[in-house]
Amino acid sequence: MSALSSKIDQLSEAVPVTQGNYPCLILNADYQPLSYFPLSLWSWQDAVKAVFLDRVNVIDHYEQCVRSPSFEMQMPSVVALKDYVPQNRSPAFTRFNLFLRDGFKCSYCGSPHELTFDHVIPRRLGGKTSWKNIVAACSSCNLKKGGRLPREARMHPRLPPKQPSMHELQSQGRRFPPNHLHESWLDYLYWDVELKA
Ligand SMILES: [Zn+2]
Repeated sequence: MSALSSKIDQLSEAVPVTQGNYPCLILNADYQPLSYFPLSLWSWQDAVKAVFLDRVNVIDHYEQCVRSPSFEMQMPSVVALKDYVPQNRSPAFTRFNLFLRDGFKCSYCGSPHELTFDHVIPRRLGGKTSWKNIVAACSSCNLKKGGRLPREARMHPRLPPKQPSMHELQSQGRRFPPNHLHESWLDYLYWDVELKA
């Protein structure tokens, strides 16, 4: 048995010195998170295994250690993949991604409150439930527009709805970061956010 595989076997005996989950943020080889939604996280077990397999560089770590009979290491909190993973998937058509595309604002009036979904071409006229026909809309605009076409209601979405690229969603994602962040993740989630004067 090689030293590496015996080390990986011993991972099953390894335990954190203190209780906790210790999720690890995964960055692509360009140091951008592999994904924002959901945020790319691994369990500490997967992160430590990837370190042993030499697939990642450890960028930052928790104070806490993981220990087994043969090794002890600080648990990684941020790792970067050594090999770049191309990001050319198309984003899932989900409520969250749709709100994200539209910036969590009504596509008609810009209000961030009471957001719902509007079929730009109403369903009764054959409008599909798709990226190209659904926009975020506040409930009062939704009610006002009713089952009418944009030109009948004189209400047009600010931007024509379309399927966003992964890149577009990712850059929107930076403006709406998730809630639970370990402090060592912040630099990698925020470094390219515009600074406010
Ligand atoms: Zn509105």
